[in-house]
Amino acid sequence: MPADIPGVHHVTAIGSDPARNAAFYTETLGLRLVKRSVNQDDVSVYHLFYGDHSGSPGTSMTFFPYPDAAPGRPGTGQATAVAFLIPASAVDYWLDRLADAGVDVDAPRERFGDTVVPFRDPDGLPLELVARADAPAGDPPAGPVPADHAIRGFHGVTLSLVDTDRTATLLESMGFDETASAGDRRRFEAEGDLGYAVDLRELPDGPQGRPGAGTVHHVAFQVTREDHAEWRDVLIDHGLRPTEVIDRKWFESVYTRTTGGVLFEYATKEPGYTADEDLESLGERLVLPEWLEDRRDEIEVELPPLDLPAAGE
Ligand code: ZN
Repeated sequence: MPADIPGVHHVTAIGSDPARNAAFYTETLGLRLVKRSVNQDDVSVYHLFYGDHSGSPGTSMTFFPYPDAAPGRPGTGQATAVAFLIPASAVDYWLDRLADAGVDVDAPRERFGDTVVPFRDPDGLPLELVARADAPAGDPPAGPVPADHAIRGFHGVTLSLVDTDRTATLLESMGFDETASAGDRRRFEAEGDLGYAVDLRELPDGPQGRPGAGTVHHVAFQVTREDHAEWRDVLIDHGLRPTEVIDRKWFESVYTRTTGGVLFEYATKEPGYTADEDLESLGERLVLPEWLEDRRDEIEVELPPLDLPAAGE
């Protein structure tokens, strides 16, 4: 058996206006733009990656911002919330910060002993801050949010499903244990310190999710190169139909549509976002994998401008 999975590697969602998307995740949430590239399956669209200082696994939220994307509807068959981990002492700071920025935020609530602040990004993507005393110090970016309060990375994701049983069995084979449940929500936890929580909500009466701006495209889990082939075998044993291993330049990936409808990815920690850029200049220029570099002129002409304040401004 391959080694247990420590947690989420990255989460990719669909957005609309790329400049608005970048401003929200870097200026309001204080994440770093660690990679500015294109969707390798549709090079007319950016692929923007936000994360901690180095874009560590477990911190990177990524977007395909289609400027004309129609709004989607979060619902069954999707990841319907993405939760970021903050220190327990940072709740008031974030409530003030989100209110000052005019963010669509709900009142804090308790969930399994933690304070949770639900809010939405400018496209309506459901996000949460989960406050915990054991949030790791991490490697926060130098940005507008003081390091004491900074987002550490992911706490985890919530998947909304018509029936949770088969996804629960898959998560257990990945090293997640069911640790709690309440109402329609079942909590599964892995051993890592970021992105370790996956909640399954059983919602047999829907509503069914519809892809579009403000919805999650896929959830990627951290694996190692050594274990990649074995994870494919595990997925096949679960009756799923994984892709071959695909080189995504900064990680290698296997994708599978799970029984409940959510697209899972198994992405390697290696080689990471510094494979083609220096740590200090991550995200400053459009980078393309070498197999797209000879199309750079044609690709750049099609992309909308994306100007961001430099780090620290
Ligand atoms: Zn991905």
